[in-house]
Amino acid sequence: MNAPLTSQHSAQLAADSGGDSPLASPWAADFPILARPVRKRRLAYLDNGATTQKPGAVIQALEAFYEQSNANIHRGVHWLSQHATDLYEEARERVRVLLNAPDSQDVVFTRGTTEAINLVAQSWGQKVLRAGDEILVTGMEHHSNIVPWQLLCARTGAVLRHARITDTGELDLDDFRAQLNPRTRLVGIAHVSNALGTVNPVAELVRLAHEAGALVLVDGAQAVAHAPVDVQALDCDFYAFSGHKLYGPTGIGALYVRGTILAGMPPWQGGGDMIRTVSFEGSTWAAGPQRFEAGTPNIGGSVALGAAIDYVLSIGLERIAAHEAALLAEATERLRALPGVRLVGTAAHKAGILSFLVDGIHPHDLGTILDTEGVAIRAGHHCAMPLMSHFGIPGTARASFALYNDGRDVDALVAGVRKAQKLFGV
Ligand code: PLP
Repeated sequence: MNAPLTSQHSAQLAADSGGDSPLASPWAADFPILARPVRKRRLAYLDNGATTQKPGAVIQALEAFYEQSNANIHRGVHWLSQHATDLYEEARERVRVLLNAPDSQDVVFTRGTTEAINLVAQSWGQKVLRAGDEILVTGMEHHSNIVPWQLLCARTGAVLRHARITDTGELDLDDFRAQLNPRTRLVGIAHVSNALGTVNPVAELVRLAHEAGALVLVDGAQAVAHAPVDVQALDCDFYAFSGHKLYGPTGIGALYVRGTILAGMPPWQGGGDMIRTVSFEGSTWAAGPQRFEAGTPNIGGSVALGAAIDYVLSIGLERIAAHEAALLAEATERLRALPGVRLVGTAAHKAGILSFLVDGIHPHDLGTILDTEGVAIRAGHHCAMPLMSHFGIPGTARASFALYNDGRDVDALVAGVRKAQKLFGV
């Protein structure tokens, strides 16, 4: 997914940042929180896989919504309600553009990736799956793309299978092919692994799954902020992501559903806004995505998500991908050069996520020492316990990059690891 860093990209980035280093970020100044010291140090925020920081444009969009446009949406007769409805539906159109979906009516707003996957499981899955049907995921999935399917299997008698991954953290394509069979109804795959950074060959996996007669859900939580995504080119049936990993607010995300599939999906939550008619004899459902948006949605959040999408598109996701690829390459090379450091996940095609272990230091201790240096990383199983079991480890330390990171963050990470090694005498 990440375009390799070309000399043209490097030159462009150096010119934008006014410096010589291709690792400088011209966009860091857009993020107010990065100016605050943490533990009296310059903050090196490398926990972007968990959540990203927000640019001023997104914070202002949220504030402006509540200052100027707040009202409940859909069917309001007054001006403010119609105005808020327009903003909400414009945000849906922004998501359509981000994903290159054919129609904004293919986009359902959710609380995030987790809710989007649960929606598919409880609506489409509950309607379609029968005992003996199979769901195939990969061994590198986040718990969000495992547990909803386990719950669905428990209700329907379907079976959850997983395709193996290799020691480099890539999907074993032969095993994936071997596990696909006429009983496979759904394939669930991470576009990018949150624990390893592996970029999966989604278009190829979709082709194989469709040949076997299965639909495909792509978990795009770690993808949408880091490279262009085109659901039509991928040809997937469902694509889920979270706004907060895309420089937007928490509590808002989206699910793309291929239009013909969405039309046949029953509601999964009942309430206001998702109905056409209600009587005590029975109710009928709204057409389109509204059928899955029961109750008052996160209107301000969706508007701010629209601003986040505008923000990344104004920079260009190709440029963001190139910047993060350069950071990943530098950090990988420098950490690999340290004695006692082992990288976990060395796929040929990776996004800006670096998982590693340091001999003699537990990842949590490493994270705590890095924190004293102002370096924020994540330590643990990264909600991917089956993946950690595969590697026979309880967890890793993980640095994950975003567009505002720069060479100083990599310097701070490497210096922090060395400090930890000295403290532990390893
Ligand atoms: N899938 C992946 C690959 C993730 O990295 C995450 C979050 O870390 C999720 C799903 C869940 O996202 P959320 O908690 O925003 O619903």
